[in-house]
Amino acid sequence: MTMDCTSQTDVLIVDDDKLNQLVLTQTLQHSYRTHTVSSGEAALDWLKQHRCNIILLDIQMPGLDGYQVIKELKEHPIHKTTPVIFISANTNLEDEIKGLELGAVDYIMKPFRPPIVLARVKNQLLLKQKTDLLERLAAIDGLTELPNRRYFDENIDKEFRRCVRARHELSVLMMDVDYFKLYNDHYGHQKGDDCLKQIADQLQQYCRRGGDFVARYGGEEFVMVLPGASIKQAQKTAKKILDGIRELALEHCQSDVSDVISLSIGIASLNGSGAKDQGQLVEAADKALYQAKALGRNQYFSAT
Ligand code: GH3
Ligand code: MG
Ligand code: MG
Repeated sequence: MTMDCTSQTDVLIVDDDKLNQLVLTQTLQHSYRTHTVSSGEAALDWLKQHRCNIILLDIQMPGLDGYQVIKELKEHPIHKTTPVIFISANTNLEDEIKGLELGAVDYIMKPFRPPIVLARVKNQLLLKQKTDLLERLAAIDGLTELPNRRYFDENIDKEFRRCVRARHELSVLMMDVDYFKLYNDHYGHQKGDDCLKQIADQLQQYCRRGGDFVARYGGEEFVMVLPGASIKQAQKTAKKILDGIRELALEHCQSDVSDVISLSIGIASLNGSGAKDQGQLVEAADKALYQAKALGRNQYFSAT
């Protein structure tokens, strides 16, 4: 993975002073795409339509000042993580502390020296890239590259509340590989790992709509979240999953229910299950999975 911060990197310069705008633009434009606005209001306006990788923000401006702008940004779902560097004529300690406490990543005093601004911007962009990468890695399962349990726990909560608020349906499919211990015992752990990867790739194909996702829940268990899907739609998807996994044709001579790898699936839907929170919904799907196992595996069962 490269850590090149220069190509396609957008820097927003917010300053009411034309000369500062000019010097900052000249300093940065060889390395980055620069965009300039002259007020706090114009910055917030620009950010309604665009994203950028870093913001250079003046503090003293007519109208909204830099402190007010950063406060707004920190409330914004997307821009709250965009690094902000204050570039300010305020040289006293309190102002600098206030700027950093409001969430700025750096504070550069005017008159600034252009090469220092460039170096600090570059450092902050690198740091942000590393943070983003770490966040992505922390949410991904290393073996299957699916979202991991941590990601699931964080997002099922959000989806549950979002669907309740919007009076949408929400279905959860809990899936577990049948007789996987016997598979490992017979074919070896390495083959077992390969098998989990192929299942993961297959499962991902059933996440078609925005908001759908599948995660590795634990060892050989996967969970699929389908916002907006009724129990009927979830059952349709479950049937497709069972067919798709069968078509992978991963030989499993030790299985009692099939000669290839199969799954059992438990389905629970928000409206059908009467779940009051995401914990109850997942628990209902888990119980349904247990039923699917008890009824003979390689099938789905829906909680009602
Ligand atoms: P059931 O049909 O009731 O689900 O039986 P099962 O054998 O699948 O269930 P059990 O819970 O007894 O065994 C799960 C097995 O999954 C045991 C474990 O070795 C295997 N497993 C879990 N995580 C991994 C993994 O990351 N890689 C491999 N190769 N195997 C794993
Ligand atoms: Mg299991
Ligand atoms: Mg199993």
